[in-house]
Amino acid sequence: MMTKFADLGLDPKLVAAVTEAGYETPTPIQIQAIPLVLEGRDVMGLAQTGTGKTAAFGLPLIHQLLSNHDKRQPKSVKALVLAPTRELVNQIADNLRLYVQGTHLKVRTVVGGVSINKQVSMLANGIDILVATPGRLIDLMDRGSIRLDTATFLVLDEADQMLDMGFIHALRKIAPALGEPRQTMLFSATMPKLMAELSKAYLTNPARVQVSPPGKAADKVTQGLYYCPDRNAKITRLIDLLGHDEEALSLVFSRTKHGAEKLMKHLVTKGFAAVSIHGNKSQGQRDRALAAFRAGEARILVATDVAARGIDIPGVSHVYNFDLPEVADNYVHRIGRTARAGADGDAISFVSGVELGLLRDIEKVMKIEIPVLGGKRPAEEKRPQRGQGGGGGGGGRRGGGGGAGGGRKPRGASGQGPKPSGNPGAGKRRRRRPKKSA
Ligand code: AMP
Repeated sequence: MMTKFADLGLDPKLVAAVTEAGYETPTPIQIQAIPLVLEGRDVMGLAQTGTGKTAAFGLPLIHQLLSNHDKRQPKSVKALVLAPTRELVNQIADNLRLYVQGTHLKVRTVVGGVSINKQVSMLANGIDILVATPGRLIDLMDRGSIRLDTATFLVLDEADQMLDMGFIHALRKIAPALGEPRQTMLFSATMPKLMAELSKAYLTNPARVQVSPPGKAADKVTQGLYYCPDRNAKITRLIDLLGHDEEALSLVFSRTKHGAEKLMKHLVTKGFAAVSIHGNKSQGQRDRALAAFRAGEARILVATDVAARGIDIPGVSHVYNFDLPEVADNYVHRIGRTARAGADGDAISFVSGVELGLLRDIEKVMKIEIPVLGGKRPAEEKRPQRGQGGGGGGGGRRGGGGGAGGGRKPRGASGQGPKPSGNPGAGKRRRRRPKKSA
């Protein structure tokens, strides 16, 4: 029997709201997590964006807030959701707003890069659900513009990504300011070792939920690589591949902000409709670029990992790793951006001599050998040492626990319930190859 939203014990208003949003059946993570959260359990979830995890924590959280009739206190919040980037905060809030429609609950966001004064006045009368990036939240706490002691729900979303951004320090400051008893939910696309420590420190006897075993990529993604001696060779290869398919919607990952910008500009001069998002862009520019890409007006989005993480963009057909990610787990995140909504997707990586070590790390985490589609294997070159050493010191994530797969995106419109976690094809070594370029 197929589980329905109405079977999960949610307030009928919420069942109506998700129906209105076009959701037909709950996704696997929702089926697992919603009853646990309704019971008041702390939850530790291994799930990527695209699995429906926002509703998995959002719906039961809102359900509980609906039965809480305490008046809003000035400057206070009832539930706090933390997420790593401005884009994610907005995406989460947009989803939560769908679910609170027709209720008295207010969802608001707090992110950096925009006026803090507006946020201060927005918070003055108190709100119900606040979605925030940790940095700006702390600024507001330091100014005395927000009280968290009435908050009894805490959600840490994309927690692994926040670890990379000094999140532990932020959490040390934020968590003790919250009310007790508190229900805490932590979601992460990967489970590096540090996550267990986080969970021990901030969660109480958490129930674990997960949608896909670690270390497997979205099983509909076809992976391949080209060896490229240098950056110029990568550019030539990229332009060649992009030129083959005018219908493609391509996400191109660059290691650095500067590199992303340069590459985007180069593509534009070659006549491609390319845009970029990275940390050097203003919020307005990032929003516009994403909107253009979402709408298909720009067919190519060049991005850095941090900027692109977790962003839910339907219809991405190709992910190009122009540079390999520094941290192997990020490979899983990147290729999970394609092959959503049951579609196929190609993930193509360019590998230079200095990146052969990174490639080995990735293949270890993925437990596959990525098929070589072209180019001559370059001689291995030593990687220039970067500031903190290549080992990912603080995070300790390289070669770590692997990542969640199942990048399939449940879309209301497509109407197909996402398949359960089993991932039959993923074990095979070599799968269908992306077309070789002539
Ligand atoms: P998330 O993983 O929370 O970022 O959700 C990914 C996308 O799936 C969002 O656009 C949601 O609106 C959508 N979604 C979430 N749950 C469902 C569902 N049960 N059926 C269809 N679409 C859903």
